[in-house]
Amino acid sequence: MAGKYDAIIIGTGQAGPSLAGRLTQAGMKIAIIERKSFGGTCVNTGCIPTKTLVASAEAAYMARRAQDFGVTVSGDIRVDMKKVKARKDAISEQSRTGIESWLKSMDGCTVYEGHARFESPRQVRVGEDLLSADRIFINTGGRALIPDMPGLDSVDYLTNSSMMNVDFLPRHLAIVGGSYVSLEFAQMYRRFGSEVTVIEKGARLAGREDEDVSDAIREILLAEGVHVRLDAECMSVAQDQEDVVVQTSCSNGAPEVRASHLLLAVGRRPNTDDLGLETSGVSVDSRGFIQFDEALRTSVPGIWALGDCNGRGAFTHTSYNDFEIVAANILGGESRSVADRIPAYAMYIDPPLGRAGLTEADTRRQGIAALVAKRPMTRVSRAVEKGREQGFMKILVGAETKRILGAAVLGIGGDEVIHGILDIMYAGAPYTVLQKAMHIHPTVSELVPTMLGELAPLE
Ligand SMILES: Cc1cc2nc3c(=O)[nH]c(=O)nc-3n(C[C@H](O)[C@H](O)[C@H](O)COP(=O)(O)OP(=O)(O)OC[C@H]3O[C@@H](n4cnc5c(N)ncnc54)[C@H](O)[C@@H]3O)c2cc1C
Repeated sequence: MAGKYDAIIIGTGQAGPSLAGRLTQAGMKIAIIERKSFGGTCVNTGCIPTKTLVASAEAAYMARRAQDFGVTVSGDIRVDMKKVKARKDAISEQSRTGIESWLKSMDGCTVYEGHARFESPRQVRVGEDLLSADRIFINTGGRALIPDMPGLDSVDYLTNSSMMNVDFLPRHLAIVGGSYVSLEFAQMYRRFGSEVTVIEKGARLAGREDEDVSDAIREILLAEGVHVRLDAECMSVAQDQEDVVVQTSCSNGAPEVRASHLLLAVGRRPNTDDLGLETSGVSVDSRGFIQFDEALRTSVPGIWALGDCNGRGAFTHTSYNDFEIVAANILGGESRSVADRIPAYAMYIDPPLGRAGLTEADTRRQGIAALVAKRPMTRVSRAVEKGREQGFMKILVGAETKRILGAAVLGIGGDEVIHGILDIMYAGAPYTVLQKAMHIHPTVSELVPTMLGELAPLE
């Protein structure tokens, strides 16, 4: 069957459904296509399920620490992995079915379930249906990158997607990769009761962060008994009876990690390889990310790329922000640009890391004269009261502009506290506005103005 629409959206991740809502409200007749699970990565195998699991892990952690707070818990603290998974599934499902029913009941929106491929710059095929439109929005997201590692074809391994089916406690989980996805799983499974080893080929964990942030993250994980193996430059894997054996170096007698399960978390790749992009003329870069301009327009007029498939940010909020930019430009006559957004994200280890703007290393690299201030969580009374003194916060300010350049808050509430700083950055206000603000006691945020009173030149 052939169908002519005003717009086609491929993928129901974090940009597609909201865009469908806005386009149909504007009176357009649209088609949206999903090949697997409504809501995409965040809802089914990313943010929502992992943060739900992190919450279960935190409950186990706090139960084990109950005595620190004068609370007696009798008996062993055990985690029922089937119940943990059931809770996670229920929360994911609520979100997934909510999106599905919203799209299917949306006036002007036709939902196609199947794999979409371009047949021309204006045509997309889904099974028997050939759809056409003058506007096509690609929101196909990404999936776990499987590294080219010797032995991988002879062992079973897990990714963030298959981890969602785990309803048992791995005896020993080896995780290849030492960044955001890896570290969340590492701490979570350690708290559930597994032995966990993180194997990272770089010299430190979360290598994009400043060294002091990486070091503090490592301390947090080591303190909970996560094993960390760094500088594992040349890895290979093999099966040895019940164990997966990871060789972590090429040199003779190199250390190996023997584990019951192997999780690969070394990055993401875009879902652009089986999209028929060659027939549409849309250009991709060497890693398959769709190339686009600051308004998210691809190399072909009438085709936009939103979310993880464009490689500009790999977060739910960046994908959603892509939707907001495209909708504002197409429907609101605005000229919004991705260049205007300030990088911001969190890492949901516990305590979490909230980040905004430049790192200290970025600031040095760019040769910006800056001021810096730092405060350990041991000097934040809210953190002490809650028995969570790990981490620190750090802020960077332009020496001439007096504008905040960036910040890291690794500590309790860090994922929330960072927004007060981020908003001042968006406002373009000098740091003194935040320094003079009266904040509520006792909070972590109340120490941000105090910290700003301690700025010193960045050496
Ligand atoms: C373990 C993990 C934890 C994460 N935690 C966080 C977090 O805490 N915070 C955060 O901001 N981000 C987090 N992320 C990242 C976040 O999940 C993604 O950045 C976000 O989901 C990207 O959304 P998207 O809109 O680009 O596409 P996706 O959500 O990936 O959706 C793309 C959709 O397109 C569909 N699709 C693909 N190809 C086709 C095709 N050819 N035809 C039809 N349909 C197709 C897919 O099935 C999918 O449903 C996490 C990611 C992972 C893996």
